Parts: sequence; structure tokens; C-alpha cells
Amino acid sequence: MALELMTLPCLSDNYAFLIHSAETGETALIDVPEAGPVLDALKARGWTLTDVLLTHHHWDHVDGLPDLLAALPAKPRIWGAAADAHRLPPLTNPVKDGDRVTICAEEAVIIDVSGHTIGHIAFHFPNSSFAFTGDSLMAMGCGRLFEGSPETMWQSLCKLAALPDETLICSGHEYTASNMRFAQTLDAANPDLILRASEIEKTCAAGKATVPSTLASERLTNPFLRATNPSLKAALGMADADNAAVFAAIRALKDKF
Ligand code: ZN
Ligand code: FE
Repeated sequence: MALELMTLPCLSDNYAFLIHSAETGETALIDVPEAGPVLDALKARGWTLTDVLLTHHHWDHVDGLPDLLAALPAKPRIWGAAADAHRLPPLTNPVKDGDRVTICAEEAVIIDVSGHTIGHIAFHFPNSSFAFTGDSLMAMGCGRLFEGSPETMWQSLCKLAALPDETLICSGHEYTASNMRFAQTLDAANPDLILRASEIEKTCAAGKATVPSTLASERLTNPFLRATNPSLKAALGMADADNAAVFAAIRALKDKF
């Protein structure tokens, strides 16, 4: 049985997520922008938090943790990148790329997705088809390169792009409308982008979350994953360039968008 997934809007444009196993009663939180929405959701569902999963060290993903821990009767396990332990909150369960661990009675695979930061990880739950990608792969976008090189981020995105089509990309921010407008400047004739844009506009107008999205949809419409696409390469005047160089060019354009 798949885990139950809850998307929690936090701060101005962040997302945290809860996953819950009905079989064991375990509940994991992914990222902690702030404590309030998490505590409200746990109370509303009657769930007990057993695990906290941290994607990366940025304040808008971890700073809610002290308030959350202070409000919980039992301390959850805290999972995060061993390589980044020096700048993450204290970890009970440090992990590294390729580790296969059990969280909420399911296998979770740890994927190093450095680029936005070095030491950024994603948590992939193959059985439930969730990938918690933080600020690496996002809906129609990817995180800015604060610490890693374009080549590093490109390798990270390629790892995520290799997951199954139906994987739900649970990313850390509601940046989709702006990402979509940028995608339209590069890839206006892409029929999948035209279709998705009309859906995104309706979702945003209704004040609903555009996250999570499926990996299949990202492959078809996310300009960063489409750095391999011949027509996008040609539109950039980079028909013969390698994929990482095309990714770097798209990221540079987005930085100025
Ligand atoms: Zn970040
Ligand atoms: Fe962030």
C-alpha cells in the first residue's frame, strides 16, 4: 500500500511534505520551513511524527526544526546528508548517495543532487513513487546554483530524470508560474508546454498548489530537462553543444529572467 502524502504550504512560497504509513502509523516530514503548519497537520490527522528528512541546509528548509522539536512529546529521527552534517541541525541518521534506508516502512533511496548547494540530497521512495527533491528539480524549473557548477547540477538532474515516469516530484517551492513564463520564452511551440501552461494557469487562479508534478510531465516541459532536445538546442544557437553546456546556458538565462 502506498504511503499517504500531504503537501503543506509554508512561509510565503515553500512546501513541506508529510508521508504516512497506515500500516505502521509512522509519519515522516520532509523539510521544516516553519513548525506551525506541520503541527496543525499532525493534530488534524492524529499522526505522530517519527522522522524528519532534510534535503539541504538552507534556512527556509530547516529553521522550523527547533520549534517543532520543542512542541513534540517524542523526538523524531533526523535524516540528512552526512557530508553536510556540519551545517545541518544535529542528525540522528546521517546518509549518503546510494544509501537504501527504511522510512515509514518503505525503502527510501538517497540521491546526491548537489548543485543548488553541495550536499543537497533527494529522497526517492520507489514503492510509493515519490521523490522529494527540495531545491534541485522543481516544477518546470530547478534551483539556482549557489554552490555547485552547472556540470554538477546537470549530473544531478540526469539522475532524477532517470527515475520512472510516474514519480511524483515533490519540490520545495511554488515557483511554477514564473518558471512557466521562462519556459515559454525558450520553447513556445512545445505542444506539451502549451497544454501544461493552461493547466497551471487554472491551478494558480484557483489558489491551489502546482506541486507535486510527475516526472513524465517535467521531461516534456521543464526547459532544464530539455537541454537534450534538438529543437531547444537549435533555438539557443547551440545545436552541436553538449547537454551540460546547454543546461548552463539555460540556467544563465533564467538567472537574468
Ligand atoms: Zn535552497
Ligand atoms: Fe529553498
